[in-house]
Amino acid sequence: MITYYSISAAINIIISVVLAVVVFWSGNTKINRSFVYFSLSVALWSVGYFFWQISSYQQEALFWTRFLMMGAILIPATYAHFVFSFLNIYEKKKKILFVSYVVTVFFEVFVFSNLIVKNVSPILGFDFWPVPGYLFHPFLFLWIIYTAYVTYILFKKYLLYVNSEKTQIKYLLLGLSMGFLGGATNYFLWYNIPIPPVGNAFVALYVIFIFYAIVKHSLFDIKVIIAEALVFSLWIILSVKLIFLKSLSDILIESAVLILFIFFGVLLIRSVSREVKRREETEKLVNELKKANEKLKQVDEQKSEFISIASHQLRTPLTAIKGYTSMLIEGTYGEVSDKAKGIVSKIFQSSQRLVYIVNDMLDVSRIEEGRLKYTFEDVKINNLVKDVIGELKVNADFKKLKFNFSADSESLDVVISADYGKIRQAIINIIDNSIKYTEEGFVSVSLEISKNKNSLILNIKDSGIGMTKNQLKTIFEKFKRSKNAIKMHTEGSGLGLYVAKEMIKSNKGVIWATSDGLGKGSQFYIEFPIKKEK
Ligand code: ADP
Repeated sequence: MITYYSISAAINIIISVVLAVVVFWSGNTKINRSFVYFSLSVALWSVGYFFWQISSYQQEALFWTRFLMMGAILIPATYAHFVFSFLNIYEKKKKILFVSYVVTVFFEVFVFSNLIVKNVSPILGFDFWPVPGYLFHPFLFLWIIYTAYVTYILFKKYLLYVNSEKTQIKYLLLGLSMGFLGGATNYFLWYNIPIPPVGNAFVALYVIFIFYAIVKHSLFDIKVIIAEALVFSLWIILSVKLIFLKSLSDILIESAVLILFIFFGVLLIRSVSREVKRREETEKLVNELKKANEKLKQVDEQKSEFISIASHQLRTPLTAIKGYTSMLIEGTYGEVSDKAKGIVSKIFQSSQRLVYIVNDMLDVSRIEEGRLKYTFEDVKINNLVKDVIGELKVNADFKKLKFNFSADSESLDVVISADYGKIRQAIINIIDNSIKYTEEGFVSVSLEISKNKNSLILNIKDSGIGMTKNQLKTIFEKFKRSKNAIKMHTEGSGLGLYVAKEMIKSNKGVIWATSDGLGKGSQFYIEFPIKKEK
């Protein structure tokens, strides 16, 4: 007879079998395996329950109640197995688990004797309710004690855990206790207490809650499991329907539908699991990248720190070299021959260049750490450039270059607001480059006012090695040096233009360069906004 009880048993079968298969397929871990045992025990119990409910003969009913007990006896041990694995305390509880499996085997040995189910007799509307045998009482006692004990352990962990694991355990606890309490309503009638097993449908609830824990809180692998569960449920429903069909044409049509569903189901599961895998891989990659990035940042910081320390150390001896050589040239230590003077001024120039490089290096690390401080004041660019020209004249003279500076009369007294030291360093870098990269000819510097009279433009023109269009694109980047420049000047750093550009930018100016090509000279332009009189 189809009743509430047989229907709830059928639902329990479907749900626990589907869940067991799905979890089995989704991964071969300890937790998954133990869950499969537990779910299959529930399925076994439900199968016995279903056939017992639809039995029409006493012997038939007796057989199925004993079959049902087979599942019921398995449940406490498999339940403990799952909970211990899930809480990662399997090793610690191994002995207890072993004992519970031994006890399980003991009861299973007698399951088809009359020691567990003696007989079936009518009670409270049931035609064939089981009558307990001698072993049923100790079994039920142990059943209750053991499930309560395991649930207590789960509850204790629930209080201990935090975050997502806590929520997982919460849903497990909810589902399991409802399932067990619902299932326990079966035991009243065994003792002639007139309460029917109304809680039977609650057994299916444990599945729903576990499912929720899976979906919302990734107990097992979420998406794949949902897809698999849906697909398997459809297959089972369609297959069950097939059994009840009578006419050949119906069977053919339904079989075709089933085949189609199997085909598309497999496709769906495969595509979902592929997507999940891809997502996992991406997550892994992102994490690796994050780590690599952190490391790079650290290395970069260490590098800047190293440069900063090294440059400080370099500056002191360089200042001494520069000081003594300039005194040598001036004759402070007696007459120096012209030949020696030439050599000494070479030493002077080289050490001065080294000072520029060291300053640039120090500034690069300061720029990168955001530590470069600017103090703005009124600066007469004309005077500043004249001063720089004075400083660099030795270098230009040494190479016998025509080195001149011309200023537009309007530009003479024009004032800009800038950090004097930084602007000076930037302009030195540009003009010194022109001297460095010009073998013969000229370096000419000119200052003029823009057509709209809003800004000052400093133009540095040379007849040197020039640059290609490609080189022009990257010269302002850090450590960028072109081959022809390296050939001519091996000891450059590739930092001068980068530092100059950063400094000019911070002083509200712009810098750009042009060249007609290799060997055709270069022009650098620096433009500053003129400070307006208030
Ligand atoms: P460095 O001079 O130490 O190499 P810079 O940052 O000052 O570094 O310059 C970067 C590059 O730009 C140089 O290596 C060179 O290739 C190019 N460059 C700069 N100024 C000139 C110039 N006046 N003529 C030709 N090339 C230049």
